[in-house]
Amino acid sequence: MNDIIVSMNNISFTYERKKVLDRVNLDIPQGAFIGLVGPNGGGKTTLVKIMLGLLKPDEGEVTLFQQPISQFKDWQKIGFVSQKANSFNRGFPATVYEVVSTGLTAKVGYFRFFNKYHKEKILHAIDQVGMLDYANENIGNLSGGQQQRIFIARALVNDPELLILDEPTVGVDQENVHKFYELLHRLNKEEKITLLLITHDTGTMTEHATDVVCLNKTLHFHGKPEQFEDMKEKDLSMIYGHNVNLVTHHHSPEEQQ
Ligand code: ADP
Repeated sequence: MNDIIVSMNNISFTYERKKVLDRVNLDIPQGAFIGLVGPNGGGKTTLVKIMLGLLKPDEGEVTLFQQPISQFKDWQKIGFVSQKANSFNRGFPATVYEVVSTGLTAKVGYFRFFNKYHKEKILHAIDQVGMLDYANENIGNLSGGQQQRIFIARALVNDPELLILDEPTVGVDQENVHKFYELLHRLNKEEKITLLLITHDTGTMTEHATDVVCLNKTLHFHGKPEQFEDMKEKDLSMIYGHNVNLVTHHHSPEEQQ
């Protein structure tokens, strides 16, 4: 059996007086590709913040790589690409190489020079996302989809075992969404990186994920993509609130904001 690398047991969390997570249990086995879905405000980002130690649950326990989160120190094992890692504009004065190198600064320190080993790591991470030809390009000259790859490279530069991505396809056009999933598929299958993907895209995601988790304050579903597909037309409106069309793959204007 695969090792469990993240274990969340009975997690509850309240912002001021609003309970947003109620006794949530989630285990992430090594090698999984988990698609985490649910309505806006369902608590997905909050759950990830608890997993990253940024918020402390009211109740429950988090174990990372078999250690209680309070004792866990190997944070480089976990890469995170935030929803907020959005676009650089045209004038932003940094190359792809420089942006990816900032992923290493936590280890190296701001004022120390990168040695050959670090330089190779940076170039390897850029290569992993298929952007080596653009290493010296100004980041602001790249498309949204290409910039998204660079943010992933920045998270990959420390060789994480688990990569968490929060809504990475919002605002990315359909062709690039497809390429993006190919990249995730390769990272998961060939590079053996465990993935946790928060997404609205319940269409394309189920073609690649090994497990789907649906969260709306409590865990409403945790199973295989095929089971999720079977369930989603029947029961999902109950979870999401009202008539939702989850079959289409395009993004609504609301999501693209
Ligand atoms: P999701 O990622 O599924 O959209 P979130 O975890 O971002 O959900 O939010 C869950 C609920 O918690 C929402 O109702 C949101 O408005 C609320 N919330 C999120 N962050 C804060 C905060 N810092 N203070 C108060 N309420 C918050």
